Amino acid sequence: MNCLFCKIVAGEIPSTKVYEDETVYAFRDINPQAPTHILVIPKAHIPSVDGINAENSAVVAHIFEVIPTIAAAEKLTNGYRVVSNCGQDAGQTVHHLHFHILGGQELSLQMA
Ligand code: AMP
Ligand code: ZN
Repeated sequence: MNCLFCKIVAGEIPSTKVYEDETVYAFRDINPQAPTHILVIPKAHIPSVDGINAENSAVVAHIFEVIPTIAAAEKLTNGYRVVSNCGQDAGQTVHHLHFHILGGQELSLQMA
């Protein structure tokens, strides 16, 4: 499949790994929008939040178990934001489900 994040999971495109287990991979965003900007993805291809269903939602639950572990390892003790852009209006550019972890500074409340 011609998917950038599937290629990152496969090691075909380099990334800066911060966490990996059997079903989840996390790496640093190449164009950070905050001092700490990490992407957490399922290893299996899911196109977006719209593609989450009863068959694959266990990995999404697992991602949300992993996120606090990553936040602690990154020392985001003052808080952080978790964002997933879904579809055109949200500006999703990579069509493999991913959750942004943003932190390391006070974040603006701007919605768009
Ligand atoms: P989104 O706009 O929500 O689809 O987010 C896609 C994110 O992927 C953006 O923040 C990009 O900076 C990031 N990105 C694109 N290519 C790479 C890459 N090769 N390695 C790490 N992050 C990437
Ligand atoms: Zn993919």
